[in-house]
Amino acid sequence: MIVYNFLFFGLNYYLMNFHNSKMDIGYKVDENRYHRFDEKNHMIYRRLWDKSLSTYKQMFDKNIKDHINSSKEGYTRLDFAFVKAGWTVYEKFPFAFAWEDDSTNNQDYGTDWLKKKHKIKHIESFTNKIKLIAKSYGASLVGIANVNNKWIYKTGFVRPRFVSEDKAKEEIRMGKLDDSSLEHPIEIPKEFNKVIVMAIEMDAKAIATAPAQPAAAAASIAYSKMAFSIACMGEFIRNLGYKAIQCGNDTALSVPLAIEAGLGALGRIGILITPEFGPRVRLCKVFTNIPLKSDEPDYGFIDKVKNTCQSCYECADACENDAISTLPDPKMKRSSISNNPGVKKYYVNVEKCFEFWIKNSSDCGACIAACPFSRIKNHIEPSKFWKL
Ligand code: SF4
Ligand code: SF4
Repeated sequence: MIVYNFLFFGLNYYLMNFHNSKMDIGYKVDENRYHRFDEKNHMIYRRLWDKSLSTYKQMFDKNIKDHINSSKEGYTRLDFAFVKAGWTVYEKFPFAFAWEDDSTNNQDYGTDWLKKKHKIKHIESFTNKIKLIAKSYGASLVGIANVNNKWIYKTGFVRPRFVSEDKAKEEIRMGKLDDSSLEHPIEIPKEFNKVIVMAIEMDAKAIATAPAQPAAAAASIAYSKMAFSIACMGEFIRNLGYKAIQCGNDTALSVPLAIEAGLGALGRIGILITPEFGPRVRLCKVFTNIPLKSDEPDYGFIDKVKNTCQSCYECADACENDAISTLPDPKMKRSSISNNPGVKKYYVNVEKCFEFWIKNSSDCGACIAACPFSRIKNHIEPSKFWKL
């Protein structure tokens, strides 16, 4: 299930980098080989320009009518309507990924009191309040990390101000723009020295139907929750007179930031595994200049995942397209340009993963459902899901 963080999930996002630490953070980086990621190499964009892919110019609509006409459980019109509608806030809400305030929209509360910076006397206690607020806005988990420039994309797509995801990427998705639209330099100004990383839980019962469509709906709904959570958190910070940059999978690699923020570990599956929900989460983040106390990586859990993945192959066994590594140990050799070079970890074959997504007419999630850390005991038939 790797690709949606790939796609909207970020195919590479999980699949990449990470750095050395005095303590074992679960992956190693060769600083001589590592370089910041170019977003055009994300599978979701590669399908638009990389003619070597079997999925070149293909997307979910390719097989959707055949699925619906087959009346197969979990692939009916009801199922696909459920998935598509789940994306609504993520795709249609223009303010979701803003880098600044829409100052025309503060009339009811006035604007004068917003201009002065709120004094933060006790950073630790204020950080706890930020975490409480993040959960009020919908985050299932929240952590704080220092901004590590290594994880910021080198180049990528920059949204026009206050334009929805759907509108901003309309032409890219239709393949009408040349590669340069995906190659804007990405720089986070130095004053943004903290990042608030939030994880949104995906519904366990829906994920248990994977790769059927209710599992894809769990992901699309979590994406819309991400958009809501980061938009509210960004505005909260601005209301205190500070700055915020709201991001989903864009702008920077979410997985290493989440690990540094203490939210979990990287495993064979190639995405973040959390102690609470396993890999059954979506990630989003807000870069900010507001004073905050950073968290530490969860070294105990990182060690636990490392040891578990050495003898567990559940995610690899669950993948219908053999996209997940069955090697006993992590390797430095990447499997494609969608992975950054110079990172020792388990690589996922994102091309194979995406091929299955096209066949499935959605993301999949079978690997997520299978991981014991997701705490899903049994697969649920889609017909049973609708009766739960
Ligand atoms: S099970 Fe395989 S195809 Fe499905 S999301 Fe995971 S890696 Fe991709
Ligand atoms: S399913 Fe097993 S091998 Fe795969 S990530 Fe989870 S614990 Fe690791």
